[in-house]
Amino acid sequence: MSGDRWIRLLAAAALFACLPVAAPTASAPATADPPAESPSREEPARSERSGGRDEPPIQLDTEAMDRKAGERAARELQETMGLLERPELEAFLRRVGARLVTQAPPRRFDYEFHIVDQDAPNAFALPGGFVYVSRGLLALTGSEDELAAVLAHEIAHVAARHAAAQQKVAQALPGLLRWLAVGELARYSREQEEEADRLGQQIAARAGYDPAGLVHFLEQLENAERLELGGSRIPSFLDTHPSTRRRVAEAAHRAQTELAAIPRLAPVAPDRTAYLRLLEGLPVGESAAEGIFRGQLFVHPELGFVIRFPDGWDTRNTPLAVGARDLRHRAQVFLELQGAGADPRAAAREFLTRPENRGFSVERMEPATVGGSPAWRVIGRIGSPEGTVGVHLTFVARGGRIYRLTGAAVGFDRFRELLGVFHGVARSFRPAPPDLLAEVTELRLRLVEAAEGESLAELSARTGNALDLDRTAVLNALWSDARLGAGQLVKIAVAEPWRPELSSAR
Ligand SMILES: [Zn+2]
Repeated sequence: MSGDRWIRLLAAAALFACLPVAAPTASAPATADPPAESPSREEPARSERSGGRDEPPIQLDTEAMDRKAGERAARELQETMGLLERPELEAFLRRVGARLVTQAPPRRFDYEFHIVDQDAPNAFALPGGFVYVSRGLLALTGSEDELAAVLAHEIAHVAARHAAAQQKVAQALPGLLRWLAVGELARYSREQEEEADRLGQQIAARAGYDPAGLVHFLEQLENAERLELGGSRIPSFLDTHPSTRRRVAEAAHRAQTELAAIPRLAPVAPDRTAYLRLLEGLPVGESAAEGIFRGQLFVHPELGFVIRFPDGWDTRNTPLAVGARDLRHRAQVFLELQGAGADPRAAAREFLTRPENRGFSVERMEPATVGGSPAWRVIGRIGSPEGTVGVHLTFVARGGRIYRLTGAAVGFDRFRELLGVFHGVARSFRPAPPDLLAEVTELRLRLVEAAEGESLAELSARTGNALDLDRTAVLNALWSDARLGAGQLVKIAVAEPWRPELSSAR
């Protein structure tokens, strides 16, 4: 159940090692396109550089090491991003994946295919055969051929061992820096992308799929990115997979020439309708079970609390923590669940005596009341490779659980200036009012049949589609002024009241 996952993982989160905040450029995905000559195998990723650690690059020489390193990274990734559990869709993904793998260069490990709970359209692979697609990417696909193209591209990265070069990034990110850096995995070089396109398209074609699936999907993705479907600031597939236009042209050329003669086989899903039906029910946008943002206000319906983050700060919610960061001021504030308990002072003591928090010096501590609950506040500092980090900790006991709110800033003077901000965030942490909880809904993907000659706007009005016209058009690879045919299937998103049993059944 997703709420439990949140609780369990928050308790396991480490803290202080991670405080150096990523360089401001990390929030500007537009600059993600690496220069063509970028030797990415040797180039440390941004996040690693900004982590300020001087570890030698980790060499991954064998497939066995790929697998081992991949397993660790997969665990971390699943904890920070969360996986979507949808048995039918996952089983389908595995069948398509298995069919593709038979056409990939032989490897000694088994491939795994998972759905990450991310709204941004995204796909990525870890060494050792771990392949992930986001729910946002799945929602965007219009056919099994498109999905196969994406999976084959990622399989190609794994088979060509491009991912081995990425792995050192995940290993170099300690504790909660990972939380901040999720989605900022190392970029592949342009050469590696071209190789993955070429090899992936061959794999898909030989597995009996239409090699033009890659062309259609890349075009679809480009439209979606233009609309910022999902509104996420997390880098998506296009950021990690640059230079789309040329890739589309080359993929189209290959589909029409060298791959054109390869015979097609019947897909896994009997037809397009069966494929689209598999996508029904996928959350669209934020999924409410893990909490949702209303502007800077965060509501967690399962745990029943609200908290408000500072205006203008970049908010983020992951299974590990919810919080906000201000890159300009190299500051962050985030809320975690420390575990079960009723005594905030004891919780503070337990936390501060953990080995990873050695070196933390307390300046002040005092009892407090937060949202009507007993709390304990600790202000102190700790050294880091980036300089002194000021830390504002609030331990709150509520409902048999200990929550820990951490405000931190690099540079003690700057930290002092932000004390009022951190106090404000702590004060805003309170039980969610019932009327606010009653309003929590989540969007779910639904399929509806069009009437003859109906426009998308008419269909949206008739079916209660919560997405605007442009988004609906992109989701369906249609023009916004398209006239639909009788029985034509259209993907929409419907707001459904958040219900605990629904989200825990996912
Ligand atoms: Zn790629």
